[in-house]
Amino acid sequence: EPVEKSQGSGLNKQGIIESGQIKWLIKHIKKESFNLSMAAIGIVIASGMNVCVPFFVGRLVDSITQIVSDRSSLLSLVFLLLFLVIGMSIFNGMRHYFIITSAERIASNMRYEVFQKIMEQDVEFFDHHSSGELVGRLSTDTNALQACVSFSSEMMARSILDFMGCVCILFNLSYKLLFIILLIVPIIGIGSVVFQRFLGNLGRDAGDYQAQAATLAQESISSIRSVKSMAQEHRQMQIYNNLLTKSSNSSRRGILGAATYTGGMVFASGICTLMVLWYGGTLVLDKELTTGQLASFLAYTAMATTSLMTISNVYLDIKKALSVSERVYEIITRAPLIPVSYQEHFRDTKKKLLTNIENLCGEILFDHVTFSYPTRRDKVVLKDLNLKLSPGMVVALVGESGGGKTTCTQLLQRFYDPDKGCIFLDGIDIKDLDPMFLRSQIGVVSQEPHLFGTTIKENIKFGAPYASDEDVIKAAKQANAHDFICKFPLGYNTPVGERGTQLSGGQKQRVAIAQAIMKKPKILLLDEATSALDSESEYLVQHALDELMKGKTTLIIAHRLSTVKNADQVCVITNGIIIEKGSHQELIDLKGVYKQLVDKQLLNKSTRQGV
Ligand code: ADP
Ligand code: MG
Repeated sequence: EPVEKSQGSGLNKQGIIESGQIKWLIKHIKKESFNLSMAAIGIVIASGMNVCVPFFVGRLVDSITQIVSDRSSLLSLVFLLLFLVIGMSIFNGMRHYFIITSAERIASNMRYEVFQKIMEQDVEFFDHHSSGELVGRLSTDTNALQACVSFSSEMMARSILDFMGCVCILFNLSYKLLFIILLIVPIIGIGSVVFQRFLGNLGRDAGDYQAQAATLAQESISSIRSVKSMAQEHRQMQIYNNLLTKSSNSSRRGILGAATYTGGMVFASGICTLMVLWYGGTLVLDKELTTGQLASFLAYTAMATTSLMTISNVYLDIKKALSVSERVYEIITRAPLIPVSYQEHFRDTKKKLLTNIENLCGEILFDHVTFSYPTRRDKVVLKDLNLKLSPGMVVALVGESGGGKTTCTQLLQRFYDPDKGCIFLDGIDIKDLDPMFLRSQIGVVSQEPHLFGTTIKENIKFGAPYASDEDVIKAAKQANAHDFICKFPLGYNTPVGERGTQLSGGQKQRVAIAQAIMKKPKILLLDEATSALDSESEYLVQHALDELMKGKTTLIIAHRLSTVKNADQVCVITNGIIIEKGSHQELIDLKGVYKQLVDKQLLNKSTRQGV
């Protein structure tokens, strides 16, 4: 997918973050500027107080080690330190409160934006990205960003402030000693830069494997019935485990590096302390420094090295979060090839708004349509296809499986755009129609209807959320669904289970038909709507469909002869080409492919054929 990759990668080749990505992060951070400013105030004051503590502790040590011990100054120093302790607890609490609040909100805003962008993508996008991957970006990636804002950035700010404060005070205490320390600091600095170079993108592979594992888990869980009936639980477990192992293996080098680095840092700070003790000790002996000053100096050295270590550790976390934000940013910036609705799409550009058709008749024309799926460009699915459906006409599309029948329905709904040719609705190219309007005019009942894990009522209302209960019941009656729904103890409030697993095929089908009825579409696409049903359900569903089809332009994809026979026109499609066209009888008389299909029973003579 070379196109996908180049489209919105946040990092350029040198691994430098694109300015757009930073702008995006800043946009979200800005929304919380009040809370973050409060947090910043908390951080600055708490840090300032924190940095003061060792200084006064040193004074305190001096006041008790003096030959003439000084009780009153001891007491006042204790009170001063008490004041610092109280202040630090208040301001630390404050920064915690504000930073966590804003991080939560920033993450929610980001999550919402990502979800929005995912929803707005065209169908092609979902051919490229699995649902597991996208859900991962929504949850794991935004969580990482939240942790970055709430924890890493704050630690970073605090450590930098602490470090700067330490260096200032150290300079005042003894610039000679500070000089010694500053000899070591660059070594730590250079060490961490080298280390970060070494780490590079080590974490990325691990992340990729984890995403693959997540996808696998999601697929196995949501298709648990297939997994079980094929007895593949153990295999799925094993693949999952392999991916996890690969993930942890590929992070091992990184962990080893980090461990070495941590060890090195501890060593460096130990050396620092030792040198301060040694050289500071001589200074005390030479009466150039008091014992208390040396004590606070030691404390500051520890503080400075700790903050330095924190800075470099947290820097890594932030870098990681930025590479995560890159993946999120990819989604944010991808402009859908087919917008959800022109009204939104052109809101800013003031380009021509939508076209809705008033008094739509429902005339459909496929005009020299050639199409291949974006994920499989080399296989041409529809070749120069021409098909015309006059208003109110019923056209049956038959042919071998894989011939391109479902593809026609997808193109008509504008899930994809044809490579060549156009599709017209009432003489208007559907590309000029608002996709939202277009889709609102099309009712679809497919072989495997997708229901949501809510109640029957909610499912029927899905395309028309503001419909009244009476309308729902009316639609259910028309769809021959009312009776079976009423037999459930909870009636219309019966939950259907994830993707409708708690309903039978025929029941699901009839709920889907009720759904289509609620939409009051002008055009109907029935994609093997009855093929998966037993004859009893088929009878009920067929009746419901006959009702539904009245006055609507209908494209039926069917393999039951009974359905096809009654169509105004039958089209036989093979390898993306319509090879025969005419009424049932005409095609039988033609003695061509259609007759063969009928003879070979590829078009099932369903039990109801004679009815
Ligand atoms: P049918 O006539 O059985 O409904 P389809 O229109 O579903 O056939 O499929 C036509 C061809 O397009 C098949 O070869 C199928 O493999 C391929 N195809 C269908 N959907 C996709 C997709 N989303 N991405 C790539 N290829 C697809
Ligand atoms: Mg199909």
